[in-house]
Amino acid sequence: MRIGVLSLQGGFVEHISMLKALHVDSFEIRNPSHLDKEMDGLILPGGESTVIGRLLNETSLLDPLETLIKGGLPVFGTCAGMILLANSIENSSSTYLPSIGVTVRRNAYGRQLGSFHTEGNFSGIGVVPMTFIRAPYIVCMDEEVRTLAMVGGNIIAAESHNILVTSFHPELTADLRVHKYFLRKVQKQLSLSCPGQQNYPLG
Ligand code: GLN
Repeated sequence: MRIGVLSLQGGFVEHISMLKALHVDSFEIRNPSHLDKEMDGLILPGGESTVIGRLLNETSLLDPLETLIKGGLPVFGTCAGMILLANSIENSSSTYLPSIGVTVRRNAYGRQLGSFHTEGNFSGIGVVPMTFIRAPYIVCMDEEVRTLAMVGGNIIAAESHNILVTSFHPELTADLRVHKYFLRKVQKQLSLSCPGQQNYPLG
């Protein structure tokens, strides 16, 4: 199993460290030639969605990534990554890699005091630590999207088909379980396309 991590801006290093801790091979994606490597899953990190969006255009990564995602590649977007994957962004006509039927509110907790740490229940995992940094949350979503976690009455983690999104940053905690959750999605997809594939030991 090999995971590509979009590495144009933001917290990609932390995701790579999480994958290393899970003994999963990963590589940085900075330009289209990096997509020549075979990848089984993709992580879009936190950062500044407008900057990452601009760089996706400038590096010509937008179209090939869109094709891969539409083809069913499992993708995990954290914070800005969630914004990039949203089908709609409140008060904005921009979208980047729209692939999950949610509308997100950027900087939903305010710009200045919007960073905090809490704990919350994540469906199928249990209580996990959650670090929020000028985070978005989901203000509405299509029927096929499944809520995975809520904090303060707001949806902060969801999934639909091959897409997983969180408002918070599991890569900034020592808890590996949300990444493991994503890797199980990758594993599932792998065994669908290659039934003989050995299960990855995710505990
Ligand atoms: N506020 C940022 C944005 O709108 C997201 C912040 C983050 O990824 N930590 O892109």
